[in-house]
Amino acid sequence: MERLSGLNEYQKTAIMDDSKACLVNACVGSGKTTVLVNKVLYLCFEKKIPLSDIVVLTFTNKAANEIIDRLKNVDIDISDEDTRYFGTFHSVALKMLKTILPIKEIGYNEEFAVMDVDEENELAQSIIVSNNLNIKYVNHLNKRIEAAKKGKTKYGIMKDSDDIQYLIELLSEIKQNQNKMDFDDLIYYATLLIKKVSYRPRWIIVDEFQDTNDDQLLFIDSLVGEYTQLFAVGDPNQIIYTWRGSCKDIFDRYKAKYNATELSLPENYRSTSNIIGVAKCFLDDPSELCTAKTAGNKILIKDHYNPFSEAQYLSDRISELVKQGIPFCDIAIFYRTQKQSRVIEDVFEKSGIPFEVSLKKTLKDIPVLNWFIHLLKIAVNPYDTESAILAISDSKFGTYSDRRKAKQVINNMIGSYGLELTFDLIGEENSSCELIEKAQSFKEWCKSSSKVSDVYDYFDLDSYLHPTSASYKENKEMIEILLDKINDHILKSGSDLYKGTQDFINSSALYGLDILSSDESMSNSVKLMTLHAAKGLEFRYVFIIGVNYGLIPLRTTQPDEEKEERRLFFVGITRAMENLEISFYTCPDDERVYSGPSKFISYIPRHLCEYDGDYNIGPDRSNLQQMRKQLVEMMHSKENALDDGFTEILSLEEQVDDNYVSPVNTAKTRKFHHDKYGIGDLVEEDDTMITICFEGYGEKQFVKAFSDLTEITI
Ligand code: ATP
Ligand code: MG
Repeated sequence: MERLSGLNEYQKTAIMDDSKACLVNACVGSGKTTVLVNKVLYLCFEKKIPLSDIVVLTFTNKAANEIIDRLKNVDIDISDEDTRYFGTFHSVALKMLKTILPIKEIGYNEEFAVMDVDEENELAQSIIVSNNLNIKYVNHLNKRIEAAKKGKTKYGIMKDSDDIQYLIELLSEIKQNQNKMDFDDLIYYATLLIKKVSYRPRWIIVDEFQDTNDDQLLFIDSLVGEYTQLFAVGDPNQIIYTWRGSCKDIFDRYKAKYNATELSLPENYRSTSNIIGVAKCFLDDPSELCTAKTAGNKILIKDHYNPFSEAQYLSDRISELVKQGIPFCDIAIFYRTQKQSRVIEDVFEKSGIPFEVSLKKTLKDIPVLNWFIHLLKIAVNPYDTESAILAISDSKFGTYSDRRKAKQVINNMIGSYGLELTFDLIGEENSSCELIEKAQSFKEWCKSSSKVSDVYDYFDLDSYLHPTSASYKENKEMIEILLDKINDHILKSGSDLYKGTQDFINSSALYGLDILSSDESMSNSVKLMTLHAAKGLEFRYVFIIGVNYGLIPLRTTQPDEEKEERRLFFVGITRAMENLEISFYTCPDDERVYSGPSKFISYIPRHLCEYDGDYNIGPDRSNLQQMRKQLVEMMHSKENALDDGFTEILSLEEQVDDNYVSPVNTAKTRKFHHDKYGIGDLVEEDDTMITICFEGYGEKQFVKAFSDLTEITI
C-alpha cells in the first residue's frame, strides 16, 4: 500500500493488525507513535471506518492535533466534530460528559466547569475554615486529598485519623452543588456514565500505554463493546508516572484481560548510535535497544559553576548553533524541576533568545487575569459561588476587602451552595454587587452580542482596574490579550460567545495557557521543559542540565524511586536525535543539591563522551554495571560462587575501578561503625553516597560528607 511505503515490515504488520486487541510493546524511538498515526489514517482511508467511531487517547492534546492535521492533509473536509474523541484521557472524558453522557443523573448539568488542582485546593481550604475541620499536614493538602480518595486516610507519621474523610465528603458535595469537576472526577464520572449509553467505538487507540493508570484502564474498559477493537502502544522502559498511579504490571494485565496479540518493533530510528549507547546504560536489559544509525557526535559533558553560569553558557552555545544554521525549534533544554527554568528564562530574555516554557502556566501567575478569570467562571457557571467570592473579595480588584462580607453578599445573591457560613450575619443582608449581577446576565447578553472585545465594556472593567494606577495600562493590556485568545478559540471551534468562553475556561484549567506567547513565536523557539514533559518528543539538539545528586536523580529513599529516576533520565537522553549535552554544577545554589556530577554521569561510558571541564568526574562505571549484573547472575546460577569465573570477573572489575567494592568482596574487607545502627558491611559507595547493610536494620544510605560512619578493621 502506497501510504505505508517507507515503513518497515514490523510497522506495517502493526498498522494492519486486525486482532480484537493488540499491544505494541516496543523500544524507545522505534516508531510506535508513527505506527499509531498511520493506523488511524489506514482505518479512516483504507478501511473506511468513520472517525467518530474511533477514540484516540494520546499523552498530550498536541499529539492528537498532529494526527488530526495529518488526516486533514489527506481530506480537508474532516471536521472537528469527526475527531471529537481524539485527545488526552481527560479531554475525551470531558467531551463525552459535555455531549453524550447523562450527567444530570449524577447531579450535574452540562455547563459544569473543570477545576484545576489549585482551585480544588482553595476550595478545600475554605471548607476547612468554614467547618472548622481538624486536618493534619494541611501544607500537603493536595497529596492528602489524593491519598484519601484512594482510601488512605492517614499520612506521614499520623497515628490517629483526622477529618480528612469528612473533608472529602464535603468537597464532593460542594463540587456537585457548584457544578464543578476536578480532573479525577472527569475520568470517574465518565466511566460511570458510559455504562448508561450505547456509544461503543469500533476502535480505541492508545499511545504511551505504559503510563496509563487503573482509573484510565477502567475508562477504556467501559468503552469496550462487543465490536470494539483495541490497539495500544507503549514501552515499559519509559514508565515515569508511577507516582500518579501508573503501574508496572499494566502490560501483563492488558494482555491477559483482552487476550491481546503482542507485537514489537525492533529498531530505534531517532538517535545516533552514540546516544543509544549512553541510553542503554540506564536500562536493566539493554539487549533489545539497537539503532542502525551512525555513531554521530560524542555526548558532551560539561560542568558549570552554578545555574546562572550554565544559563549564560546555554545562551552563548545556542547563539553559536543558530549561526551555524540550526533553527531554535530544533533545540530543547530539559531539567528535573520546573523552577530551574527561571534563571534560563531571565538570561534568554536578556540575550534575545526566543523560548517557550512547556508549563501548565495557570493564569494565577498574573493577578489581573487571576481576578478576571474568576469573574468569567461565575459568568459561565452560575453555581460557582467560590469563584464569585474570590472575584469580589480580590485584594486588588475586588470591592469587598473582607472575605466574610463577600461571602455574605454572594450568599444573598446566589446562595451558599454548601459553603456553610459559620459566622453571624453582619448587616448588609440586602447588599448586592453589580459585577456579579453582570456575570449573572452574561449568558443573556451573549445572545445579542457576538464580539469578544465588547466583554471589557460589558463588565465596565475600567471601574475595577483603577485607571489612575501605575499598572492600569499593563493590566488592561493583559485582559485584552486574554480576550483575543478567547476570540481565537471561538473562531477555531465555531462556537458562540457564551459556549466558546465556557470551553476556553475549561480547557485552560485542563492544559494551562501560555498567555504571553503567540503561536508564531512558539513555532521557532527553544523549548524548555521538565524531563516528564519531554515524553514522546524529539529534538536534534538536547541539553540535560543540573545532573547533580538532589536533582537528577532527585533524593530518593526507596530503590523503586531511584529506578524511576533512572527511567526518567533515559527518557530525556532518548529525545536527542543528533546531539546531546549533559551538565552539572560544581557550586549549586540550592543547598539540597550536592555539588559535582551525580552518579548517573559515572554510568556513561567514557568512550562515548567528551568531558569539557576541570572537575574530577570519577571513574567510568558503565561496564561495572554490566559486570555486576553478570556477577549476580553467575552467583545465582552457581551455588559455589567463588569459582574461577568469578575470580576472573572480579579482577576485571578491579581493573576498571580501584574504588569499586563488590557486594561479596566488601563483606569480607570493609566494615563500618555507626552510633545508632552498630556495625555493618559496605554495600556500595560513590563519590557522594555510601550504602551500609546493618544487621537488624537492613541497608541504609548516607551522604558521605555528613555521615557519622567510622571504618573499622577486624
Ligand atoms: P517514543 O518511544 O519516544 O515514544 P516512538 O516509538 O513513538 O518513540 P516515533 O516517535 O514514532 O517513535 O519515531 C521516532 C522517529 O523515528 C521519528 O522521527 C520517526 O519519524 C522516525 N521513524 C519511525 N519509523 C521510521 C521508519 N520506518 N523509517 C525511518 N524513520 C522512521
Ligand atoms: Mg511515541
